[in-house]
Amino acid sequence: MNQSLLRALPQVQKLMEAPAAAQLCARFSRAEVVEAVRAQLEELRRAWRAGEDATFSGELFFGRVKASLEARDRHRLRRVINATGIVIHTNLGRAPLAEGALAAVLEAGAGYSNLEFDLETGLRGSRYEDVEELLKELTGAEAALVVNNNAAAVLLALSALASGGEVIISRGELVEIGGGFRVPEVIRQGGAKLIEVGSTNKTRLGDYREAITEHTQMLLKVHPSNYRMVGFVGSVEVKALAELAHAQGLVMMEDAGSGALVDLSQYGLPPEPVIEESIRAGADLVAFSGDKLLSGPQAGILVGKGALIDRLKKHPLTRALRIDKLSVAALAATLRLYRDRARLHETLPVLKMLAQDMTVLEQKAARLARDLSALKGTQATVKDGVGYTGGGALPGTGLPSKLVAVKLKGMGPGTLAARLREFDPPIIGRVSEGALALDVRTLLEEDFPTIVRAFASFT
Ligand SMILES: *Cc1c(COP(=O)(O)O)cnc(C)c1O
Repeated sequence: MNQSLLRALPQVQKLMEAPAAAQLCARFSRAEVVEAVRAQLEELRRAWRAGEDATFSGELFFGRVKASLEARDRHRLRRVINATGIVIHTNLGRAPLAEGALAAVLEAGAGYSNLEFDLETGLRGSRYEDVEELLKELTGAEAALVVNNNAAAVLLALSALASGGEVIISRGELVEIGGGFRVPEVIRQGGAKLIEVGSTNKTRLGDYREAITEHTQMLLKVHPSNYRMVGFVGSVEVKALAELAHAQGLVMMEDAGSGALVDLSQYGLPPEPVIEESIRAGADLVAFSGDKLLSGPQAGILVGKGALIDRLKKHPLTRALRIDKLSVAALAATLRLYRDRARLHETLPVLKMLAQDMTVLEQKAARLARDLSALKGTQATVKDGVGYTGGGALPGTGLPSKLVAVKLKGMGPGTLAARLREFDPPIIGRVSEGALALDVRTLLEEDFPTIVRAFASFT
C-alpha cells in the first residue's frame, strides 16, 4: 500500500495557494475550484489505494481540475456555431435575433422600462400595446395578442373560444409538431371535443359542412409544418372555410405554425402561408410563432378579429401564458424591421441565411475549404449539399447548399464531430459520407477563423 504516498498528498488549502489555482479562480468561483480540487484529490487517493502507478504532479493535477471545471461548464447555455445548414434549428435555439432586437433586449433588461406604464398619463399601461399596433399594421388584422409561444397561443384560443364545444379539423391536419405538441391533445386540453373530418389525404368543404352541429364552436386549420403530402391530396383553403364558418356563426382559426409576414417566393423560396393573406381571406384568428421564419424571440402571436382577441385578453390563462419583457422588447424591435421590407434580407438573420444565392455559398465554401486545407494533415473539399429551413417551415423543401467536407489524418469523422462539440465555442457539424460536413449556409464569415483554430488544435 502507498500509505506514505497518501500522506504526502498536498492539502486542499495548500493546493489552493498555487498559481494554477489562482488562475482557475479568475474563471470560476472559488467554491467551484475547491470542490474540483477535492474531487481530484479523492480520485488520486482512489487510484493509489487500487495500487495504480501514479506520482503527484502539480501540472497534471491542475490540468485535470481545469478539465473537470470546463466539462461542467459545457452545460451552460452558450453560443454555438451552427454548421448543420438547418436555419431554424429548434435544438440550437431557433432564430438568431437581429441586431436591433438584441439592443432592445439589453435596454429593457438592464434597467426599468415602461413595460406596463403609460408615459403620457402616468397611469398603468399595457405590455401588449406596442407589439399589437405593429402586428395590426403588418398583418392588416383588427387586433393582436402575444403570449409565451405558439403552443400557448393555440391552447389559449381553444380554451377561450371552444371549451365545452366541438372543434372540426381535417384528418390530414392532426399534426404532431415535435416535443410532444400534438394537435388532438391540445384541443382536448383546451376543453373542446375534436371532430375529425375527411380522410388523411383529402378533405373537402362538404366534409366540414356535414359535421357542423349545434355544439360546433370552431373550424380549425393547422399548417402541416413538418411533413408534406403529395399525390392525390386536397385540403380546403382558408377563404372557403372562413365563409362556411361565418355562414354558421362559427369561428375560423388557422394555426399557421411558422407563418410568414412577407411572401418568401421573392427570395426564391417556396411559399409559406402569409399571415396578411389569411386575414384577408377571412380567418377570424391566426396563430403563429415568433422565433421561426419571423426571426424574432420565442413568442406565440395571435392576430384577428377585435372581439375575439378581447375575449382572449380577458381569459385567466392569458396571465399564465404571458410573454416576458425581454421577449416583448425583442419582438417589437424585430417587427419594426418589417417596415423596411426591401432590406429584410439584410436585417433579419433567418432571411439573410435563407436568401443567400449559390454564388455566395460557393464563395464561402471555397474560402473555408482553402483555409482548412492549409492546415497540416487536413483535407477539405467543397461538395454539394442539402440544408433545411427547419422550424416547421417549408417542409420537405431541401435547400441546395454547399458543404465543406473535412477529413483529418488519424481521426475518424465521428471523433472529429465530438471534438468539435467540445471546442469553445462548440461547432456543430454532421457526419456525411465518411467525412465531417460543414454546411456554409448557416455559417458566418466571422466564424471561419474560429473553425480553423479548432481544426488546428486537433492536428
Ligand atoms: C411550431 C408549431 C407550433 C408550436 O409553436 P411553438 O412556438 O414552438 O410553441 C404549433 N403549431 C404549428 C403548426 C407549428 O408549426
